[in-house]
Amino acid sequence: MKIMPNCLDRGFYMYQKEFEEKALEVLRSGWYVLGNEVRCFEKEFAAYTGAKYCVGLASGLDALWIAFRVLGIGAGDEVIVQGNTYIASVMGITINGATPIFVEPDEYNNIDVSKIEEKITNKTKAILVVHLYGQASNMEPIVGIAKKYNLRLVEDCAQSHGACFQNQMTGTFGDIGCFSFYPSKNLGAFGDAGAIITNSTQIAEAVRIFRNYGSEKRYYNKVVGANSRLDELQAGLLRVRLKHLDELLEEKTRICQKYLLELYNEKFELPKIREGSTHIWHQFVIHCKDRERLIEYLDKSGIGSIIHYPIPPHLSEAYSYLGIKRGSLPITEQYADEVLSIPLYNGMTEEEQDYVIQIMNSFE
Ligand SMILES: *Cc1c(COP(=O)(O)O)cnc(C)c1O
Repeated sequence: MKIMPNCLDRGFYMYQKEFEEKALEVLRSGWYVLGNEVRCFEKEFAAYTGAKYCVGLASGLDALWIAFRVLGIGAGDEVIVQGNTYIASVMGITINGATPIFVEPDEYNNIDVSKIEEKITNKTKAILVVHLYGQASNMEPIVGIAKKYNLRLVEDCAQSHGACFQNQMTGTFGDIGCFSFYPSKNLGAFGDAGAIITNSTQIAEAVRIFRNYGSEKRYYNKVVGANSRLDELQAGLLRVRLKHLDELLEEKTRICQKYLLELYNEKFELPKIREGSTHIWHQFVIHCKDRERLIEYLDKSGIGSIIHYPIPPHLSEAYSYLGIKRGSLPITEQYADEVLSIPLYNGMTEEEQDYVIQIMNSFE
C-alpha cells in the first residue's frame, strides 16, 4: 500500500458537486475580486469564530505582517514568539522591521508560558501566539501577561481553525487573529488565501483599507498599502468548505483518536493534549529520537511522512542576521530534530490507517 502524508483531492471529492457549482457560479458572474462572495465569507467566518469582524486577504503571511503593520509595530520593537514555529510567523514580524524574541515551547509544542515574562523588555510591544499543529495554546496566562505589561496580542491561527481554549475560539483572545487558507490547512482554499479576525472596528477598517492599496474609495489613497485582496473564486469555495468545517474537523479528530488509542511503540512519543484546549489536528506530530531511521523505514513500507519543521527559524539562513547561535534554544532545536508528522487527511480510509498503525507499531 502507498500512503501519502496528505491527500488534498480527497477533500475535494467529498463535496465535488458543491465546489464545482460554486466555481461555475463565480466564473459566470463577471465579478472576480472583492465582491459578494468575499463579503459573505467574511460575515460567515466572523460568525463561526465569534469575532465581530473578518477581513479577507491574499494569504496567511499577509494576514500576519499586515496585522503588525496596522498595530504600528516596526523597527525598534520586539515581538515575543515561540521558537518552534513555521517561519512565516516570524516573517510577519520582521517584514515590518521588528525583532522576534524567541521563547521555548512546552510539551504541547506551543509557547511555554512560564518563560515569557523573562523575555519582556522595554522594547517589547506584542506577543504572537501560534496554535501549532492545531492545538490551542494556554491562553489564560498569556492574556494575563499581555494585560499586565500592556502588550498587543496577535494569534497565528493558520493551523487552528475552530480550535478552542476553554470553549473560546482561537483568534479571538487578543487584538487580531491571523488565518491562512492555504490548501493543506483545515479550512483550505484551492489556491492562496488568508484573513484576519478582530473585535475592533478600527483595526478591521484599517486592514480593509490597507489590503486595497490603502484606499477606501477608489483612487483616493489614505496610506501606502498593499494588494492583498481575496478573490471571489477562493472566497466562494471557502464558503462551501466552511459549511462542512465542523464535520471535517470531527472526521480528523476520529482518525487521530484511533491513532492515539492504537499506536504504541516505545520508540516514539504521541502528541499530548492540554486540559482546556481543543486540538483540531492540522498535523499528527510524534516525537522520535531515532527519526531518520523511522522515516526511512516508513518510506520503504510506502508511507510518506513530513517534518514540521526541520530548521527552526533562528537557525535558518534568512535569519542569520539575528546572530542567534545553535544551542541558544535547546528545546526548540531538540524538537526540530525529533518531530515527525504521519499521514493524516480528510477522507483517509480505515484500511489506510490500519496499515500506518501496523507499520509504525512494528518499528524497532
Ligand atoms: C501556513 C502558515 C502560515 C502562512 O500562511 P500562508 O497562507 O502560506 O502565507 C503562517 N503561520 C503558520 C503557523 C502556518 O502554518
